[in-house]
Amino acid sequence: MGPLNVVGGHVALDLVNTVEPRVPGGTVGTDHLGTPDDLARWAVRGALLDDEEAERVRRAWTDGDGGARAHAATLEIREATYAVLLTQLGAADGANAALDVLVGHWRRAMGRSTLSFASTDDRLRVGTDPELVVPDRLAHAAVALLRTLDVRQLKACPLDEGGCGWLFLDRSRNGSRRWCSMGDCGTRAKSRRLTERRRGARSGVPQSS
Ligand SMILES: [Zn+2]
Repeated sequence: MGPLNVVGGHVALDLVNTVEPRVPGGTVGTDHLGTPDDLARWAVRGALLDDEEAERVRRAWTDGDGGARAHAATLEIREATYAVLLTQLGAADGANAALDVLVGHWRRAMGRSTLSFASTDDRLRVGTDPELVVPDRLAHAAVALLRTLDVRQLKACPLDEGGCGWLFLDRSRNGSRRWCSMGDCGTRAKSRRLTERRRGARSGVPQSS
């Protein structure tokens, strides 16, 4: 599996985008968070954990089923966040049930949370039980995103045009960003349109563009 691109513009969106393609109604695509190990690696790469915290998390996860619990909680938060965000994009179903799941995780995370200065700099970081610090921080992040989201900026890479369905914040001034990243889906869609046009030209069938 190649490296996972990070395009969302917010860690909660990058969490949603760990399934590829991202299709409403279930995780049918490649899941980049298939195991607790995948999750630990992703959390470090996305700066959700610093190296020292990652070490503590790994230690906590080697005992019993800590890793499995954190992994399961993370996937619940991910799918609930996705379902709630879809309603912001106009989908009608499932928002309340998903919101209940997310709020449940967020409240439990709050109950365990502390605030302290990080060892690497002077920034405050949310700490919790090392076993659950990853899902807890993600629950905080997801709620923070939903509370402050400018829905006009929220977009999905267009599945019906060959995109991947990933969610991202379009922060361009004129709101013109269409693809998760022009280097991936945008370029693929463009070359596909070109091929279709050439094929059409050869067969003499006029193509609409
Ligand atoms: Zn895409």
